[in-house]
Amino acid sequence: MGDGNKSELERVLKVQRDAFTTARPEPMEVRKDRIKRGIALLVDHGEDLARAMSADFGSRSFEATMVTDITSTIGFGKYCLKNMDHWAKTQKRSPRFPLGLLGAKAEVRYEPKGVIGILSPWNFPIQLSLSPLMQVLAAGNRSMIKPSEFTEATSELTKNLIQQYYNEDEVAVITGGPEVAQAFSGLPFDHLVFTGSTQTGAKVMEAAAKNLVPVTLELGGKSPVVLGRSADYEKAGERIAMGKMMNAGQICLAPDYMIVPEEREEAAVAAVQLGVHHMYPTLLDNDDYSSVVTDKHFDRLQSMVEDARGKGAEVIEVNPGDEDFSGSNARKMPLTILRNVTDDMQAMQEEIFGPILPVKTYSQTNEAIDYINGRDRPLGLYYFGNDKAEREEVLTRTISGGVTVNDVLFHVSVEDLPFGGVGPSGMGSYHGPEGFREFSHARAVYTQPKIDIAKLAGLRPPYGDSARKTIAREMKKV
Ligand code: NAD
Repeated sequence: MGDGNKSELERVLKVQRDAFTTARPEPMEVRKDRIKRGIALLVDHGEDLARAMSADFGSRSFEATMVTDITSTIGFGKYCLKNMDHWAKTQKRSPRFPLGLLGAKAEVRYEPKGVIGILSPWNFPIQLSLSPLMQVLAAGNRSMIKPSEFTEATSELTKNLIQQYYNEDEVAVITGGPEVAQAFSGLPFDHLVFTGSTQTGAKVMEAAAKNLVPVTLELGGKSPVVLGRSADYEKAGERIAMGKMMNAGQICLAPDYMIVPEEREEAAVAAVQLGVHHMYPTLLDNDDYSSVVTDKHFDRLQSMVEDARGKGAEVIEVNPGDEDFSGSNARKMPLTILRNVTDDMQAMQEEIFGPILPVKTYSQTNEAIDYINGRDRPLGLYYFGNDKAEREEVLTRTISGGVTVNDVLFHVSVEDLPFGGVGPSGMGSYHGPEGFREFSHARAVYTQPKIDIAKLAGLRPPYGDSARKTIAREMKKV
């Protein structure tokens, strides 16, 4: 499957690295032209790509795909175009006193790294391959992309389009399954960006380590929603339902579980149910609601619900149109709320990545905080409420990749904020100025003045009084 045998991968890498080395230094206009071509590809063929994604999923909202994958990536390209001159500026730094006075100069140049590999998942196949590409190109790099094997039609179309809009020595797409992905992650890139599960991320990092390739890992995890007592429950329910139902919950940042005050549990569950009813009067034939991507993923979610039921959870299926899902092979699954969950349930151990929402309760805020801190550091954390002190308590006593207050997911839509995880939810980030830095090498450049500084300070053998005076001057407590 695919076109990525090892020698072919090595050939493309060599072609790109040679072209990169020969072309240096490339003017910013060349980088900008590459980004503009990426935007043109999406404007010209965004709708074709959205249709390919729908075919890959079985059903996926055309409008939602246009927003999450196409226009968001175009917007990010434009954001890079607007800010890259500023990001790329050489920064003056201060040489140690009094070296600056004597004419020494220190600066940091943000230089391209070379060829950057991008390994992407199936849930947002375009956003998670071409958004990093925009910033990889902004930083002056070349790129090889290996998209997911689960969205085959989209990956093939992406490959054909990239061939039309780029030379192979600028950007190339390699298709194939896990064996190609494995060979890809073992290539001696100058940097590797991986988006996918925590388990695969660990394998990718291990493969990259063999060549000491630096990695950006965009992983997953169980992103909690903390509802404070001061929250507007109706609004919160609607927003949580929206975030959990989008792409049928197959979002790295989807709210994974809710943790709510014990006496407000009924109200919180009712608010989420109401939110679903408002947005999705029906699910089975509703093009606004996505399918689960494959039978295997669907079966995993079904067994997660059965596991919870078997261990004593109350299972609430939110089925606004009262439809019969049992006879359908569309892989559509209604939002399934789980109450009375315990930590031994699969739904409380693994990232859910589908339309299942466990609910936990707390009596004091610190119980919610302790619960979150007792688990892997999540990718996102959501707090609903208008109690500033409580919000700060939740934020300052927990750790997560990012936070949205009074909604879910939204911090990822702010292009100027870094997006990334922490610990098991990832390392490094892109978006924002941080992404440009991530894909650049911060090269330190120091220029020595004419005056012989080492001699002046006595720091050249033979050492004598002058050296001892210099040392004595530094040996002071502050
Ligand atoms: P995955 O880890 O199964 O696959 C991702 C990519 O890794 C695919 O291209 C696949 O071909 C490749 N791969 C598979 N086995 C490999 C191996 N042994 N070595 C190297 N590469 C290998 O993830 P997925 O199921 O496609 O996506 C779902 C996961 O991705 C979820 O955990 C989700 O949270 C996470 N995710 C994270 C983000 C983020 O930005 N942080 C975004 C989307 C998805």
